Amino acid sequence: MAKRDYYEVLGISKSASASEIKKAYRKKAIEYHPDKNPDDKEAEAKFKEAAEAYEVLSDADKKARYDQFGHQAFENGGGFGGGGMNMDDIFSQFGDIFGGAFGGGFSGFGGGGGQRRVKGSNLRIRVKLTLEEVANGVEKKIKVKRKVKAPGTTYKTCSTCNGTGQVTRIANTILGRMQTSSPCNVCGGAGETIDKKPADADAQGLKMVEETVSIKIPAGVVDGMQLKVSGKGNEAPGNGIAGDILVVIEEEVHEKLQREGDNLHYDLYVSYPDAVLGTSKEIDTVTGKVRIKIEAGVQSGKILRLRGKGIPSINGYGKGDLLVHVNVWTPKTLSKQQREFFENMREDEHFDPKPESSDKSFFEKVKDMFS
Ligand code: ZN
Repeated sequence: MAKRDYYEVLGISKSASASEIKKAYRKKAIEYHPDKNPDDKEAEAKFKEAAEAYEVLSDADKKARYDQFGHQAFENGGGFGGGGMNMDDIFSQFGDIFGGAFGGGFSGFGGGGGQRRVKGSNLRIRVKLTLEEVANGVEKKIKVKRKVKAPGTTYKTCSTCNGTGQVTRIANTILGRMQTSSPCNVCGGAGETIDKKPADADAQGLKMVEETVSIKIPAGVVDGMQLKVSGKGNEAPGNGIAGDILVVIEEEVHEKLQREGDNLHYDLYVSYPDAVLGTSKEIDTVTGKVRIKIEAGVQSGKILRLRGKGIPSINGYGKGDLLVHVNVWTPKTLSKQQREFFENMREDEHFDPKPESSDKSFFEKVKDMFS
């Protein structure tokens, strides 16, 4: 589509002064303002066209380029990239030109047409999950109290706004007498009011019910995360849409496993004989118990990594690991014979520490692991 000449768009001559350009734009902007032309696509296009023209002609540098090269001046990344301006841009850049006549913003625009739909309020609930539930994902059935439309409630067109949801007023502004509109405060913008309602309904024709809502929680959620269940919050009267349930995740502390992001940590205690002779141990994971082998001669502080036994990533990129920390357990008290046994052992040079590079300290190992 060929672009119209910016001067033509604003209805001014090429010799127009800065204040004439501003005045011309203000006139067009008010004429095609979305609040005055609800659901009028042609007016919206003209409103945008005028804003684009003003954006160029109100800027001395852009105006000079436009005067010399026409629309070509902005065709190669120089201005609007072909897409024009969106409504938010226009209001954020030029909102002050309306001098408060429209309350600074606009309403009822870009929502896919039709009048403003009132939305019911959101419900916020906390859901406690075990680490196993976090790891595997879970479907929870939660009892919620929510407002729903009371059966038997009927609605009629709001007589204050005649169903438009908007009331228009004539206001005297610095631009002269102007028509402004705002949401109807009788129907709250819905365009409808209650005709008949049953005795147990509130003033909006709603009533509180207890419902069981099924909430699917994906694997890998994190404590404090908020999930949204659309349309399961409080309903709104008339043709309004229901609010949402916001589910706040609370993760219970696990007895044996500690979570660190998608990885899990498990402290395993082995006895001296087990550390010296080797053994196998059963440990908890989020998918049940597994038996792991402890090599003879294991050092305290060794970390065994069980790949993929952690928490699945919430983004779906793989799974964390389970890191088993080996701790050789040292008894605090000994019988007389036990004491003799260890005293004999101490005489034997074989038991003197002779660390090898594979017996790196705990901290060095952790460093390797995460580097
Ligand atoms: Zn109304």
